[in-house]
Amino acid sequence: MPPAKPLPTADQESREFWAGVKARQLKLQRCLGCRRFRFYPRAVCPHCLSGQAEWLAASGKGTVYSFTVCHRPAGEAFAAEVPYIVALIDLAEGVRVMSNLVRCQPAEARVGMPVEAVFEDLSDEIALYKFRPVD
Ligand SMILES: [Zn+2]
Repeated sequence: MPPAKPLPTADQESREFWAGVKARQLKLQRCLGCRRFRFYPRAVCPHCLSGQAEWLAASGKGTVYSFTVCHRPAGEAFAAEVPYIVALIDLAEGVRVMSNLVRCQPAEARVGMPVEAVFEDLSDEIALYKFRPVD
């Protein structure tokens, strides 16, 4: 039996983000100083250094910026899933996130393809966000 997959660990700065994912929502921090979204969650804005931010629900829509098809798993826990796609997604809100592209054959993945977030429960507390192609 393969080892268990590692789970995300929510900390003080990312707790709201992971709670949103569990509730089937991508939530992003938006700076109250310069009004820009940021990802990953953090205490200080990387653009203007403001410590004030709000959490807003993102659209979950984006496009593939880049991707790779993994034929060798990142560890034994992922061996049953190869080949899988790891992608950088540009969200409509202007931030770039890394995730898996799912419900997509590797040969069908394209830079620039429109995608939307989907969610996968891993436990009673933790879910993951992934992306699937949209027509
Ligand atoms: Zn800012």
